[in-house]
Amino acid sequence: MIKTLIVTSCTGEKLFHPGHQLTQSDFVDDSTLIKREKELAEYKTPAGKLYTGMQHQRLMEGVSTLRDRFGKDIVDLYIVSAGYGLISESKEIVPYEVTFNSMTGSEIARWSAQIGIHKDLNALIQDYNLVFFLLGDKYLKAVNLPLESANDCQKLVFFASGTSKKMIPNEAPYCFIEVGQEDAKSFSYGLVGLKGYLFKLLAQEIVKGDLALLEDYYRDPSLIMTSLGKYRKTPAPECIQLRLFETDEPVSKPKKGNQMSKPGLELNLSRSEFAKNYTGHMRYFIPEWDDRVDPNYDFLNDVSVGNRDTYKDDVYAHEIYPKPNYDGILVSKVIVEGSKKKKALIEQMGIHDFIRFDQARPVMGDCGAFDYVNEYLPPFETEEILDYYQRLGFNIGVSIDHLIVGQYAQDPKERMRRYNLTKRNAEDFLKKYKEGHYTFLPSGIAQGWDPKSYRDAAADLIDMGYTHICLGGLVRTTTKDIIEILKEIKPLIPDYLTVHLFGIARPDALQPFCQLGANAMDSASQLRRAWLGTGANYHTLSGQMYAAIRVPPVEGHGVRVKKMVAEGRGTIEQFKKLEMNALQSLRAYDRGELSLDETLNAVLEYDKYIGDDRDVHQILYRKVLEDMPWKQCDCVICKSIGIETIIFRGNNRNRRRGFHNTYVFYKRLKQLYPDD
Ligand SMILES: [Zn+2]
Repeated sequence: MIKTLIVTSCTGEKLFHPGHQLTQSDFVDDSTLIKREKELAEYKTPAGKLYTGMQHQRLMEGVSTLRDRFGKDIVDLYIVSAGYGLISESKEIVPYEVTFNSMTGSEIARWSAQIGIHKDLNALIQDYNLVFFLLGDKYLKAVNLPLESANDCQKLVFFASGTSKKMIPNEAPYCFIEVGQEDAKSFSYGLVGLKGYLFKLLAQEIVKGDLALLEDYYRDPSLIMTSLGKYRKTPAPECIQLRLFETDEPVSKPKKGNQMSKPGLELNLSRSEFAKNYTGHMRYFIPEWDDRVDPNYDFLNDVSVGNRDTYKDDVYAHEIYPKPNYDGILVSKVIVEGSKKKKALIEQMGIHDFIRFDQARPVMGDCGAFDYVNEYLPPFETEEILDYYQRLGFNIGVSIDHLIVGQYAQDPKERMRRYNLTKRNAEDFLKKYKEGHYTFLPSGIAQGWDPKSYRDAAADLIDMGYTHICLGGLVRTTTKDIIEILKEIKPLIPDYLTVHLFGIARPDALQPFCQLGANAMDSASQLRRAWLGTGANYHTLSGQMYAAIRVPPVEGHGVRVKKMVAEGRGTIEQFKKLEMNALQSLRAYDRGELSLDETLNAVLEYDKYIGDDRDVHQILYRKVLEDMPWKQCDCVICKSIGIETIIFRGNNRNRRRGFHNTYVFYKRLKQLYPDD
């Protein structure tokens, strides 16, 4: 799980305003503070509850939303107090009247140092992967960036004003999200509380799905504003364009002018400088996560045939398309062991037959190290894993690793322990492989924490005799840093070596990855984009991405509908009518029987109750209806179910849209790296 921290500022508005509240001089020494706090004992309140400013209130609503859904530990909250210094939300404090906002620059520097804000924050952030800062100018000054303990495995996200920008380092792991007057207008929310309001919206987005969205934010903080774009009430068209249609650089057009190049992505290597194993091929594996749909789904009535077995009767993407949209499939041991029934079936049938994947195509197995990242030791033995790969018929089997990420990458002793453990496991794996009668291809996995450690790990694996190696633990690493790691490894790579990047398919960086020696990868992010976030749910070969049109079933929105019914805004029957009208209008539009405006109105009429923002949806939905991208796609899904692909509604549409995205991704990949 991503460890998340919020750092916010104290506000002048507090629950109590006693006449004799604390002032700055009361904080100068501990004995005064203790004495004065006693006088105010009746007002003692946890910090999280004492502040009543707009930013704080909205922020706490967002925090509650997250905790209600995922539990208390999903996020920690600290407050920069101009009196108490950096305090946890649970610390009990009494009302005080001190704020950095009334101090000059030099007063802030002196006082914040005295109450230890920078020092305490520096120590605090070490334990977190993702930190949100909601601080105004003067509080940012009090924090005194940069923080020495910040590291590349973290994302430090600052919601801040344009004038604060110069205080925030312009480099990883710092991410600056400008929040200004224009945004206050566009979100139709006062500037004073806007940062808290934005966090509240973010929390609303996150709880709509599982924690994958939080992971997405961690990996790419620019998605934060993208996903909030739909809450803007008065979006300037160019702002929508920028924030919601921001796309990855199309793979099919890698040679762009300078204006499109991203830092670190242009290598300018000549052919002779490419890695020795460069062949112009890049193999794509898709991780298997039970991505199946009902092939006989009745879209008009929204029903599946009763009594069906979701394993036997449902189909994988490769059973729908004439050819799989991936070169192979990656199956983690944790997936195999998802349930007793599933495990027993796989043991009985073998992995290829279970996922009904052509025997001639590779299935790769690994141990799923993310599942035991917090354990002291991996829960498997080498012999057991060798036998498991062989028995189930895997084509490629990966040695047992232990991830070196987050806090483990920061601790020099622990990262060395994990590094050596992974290395010894790889040695043991290959030795026992050679002694036994195994026929799958053994792969050694490298874990590290910086370019040099990855290089050493790769060098060892090549020395041991592996012809297939994996680089693990890079899912949350920036593209630029992955490139730095590959640059270190490139000189060691012999011409026969396969280098697989675990969990990574960055469309904008495939070319540099490939030139530097990576020639296989896996990722499900194209698939999952179909239902994560707004604005980029449906991908196309041109690189243009579209929002899917949300027509959620009334039945599935019980709480919201109940609330609206209770408020007297309509009856269940009325909402169902709006829902059906939206669906039928979309289908009529697809057949050319209804105008765009009439269709859009029907969709928005329902969206007004069920959706989150009519104005933004109006722009996004108009665009997708105008362009009708599903009519231009020649994939079997778009050909057979047409406009249903673009409707955001239930597994059978959403996952099919994910299959379509995978098709698009693979097609672009093969344009860039054709098969032999
Ligand atoms: Zn399609």
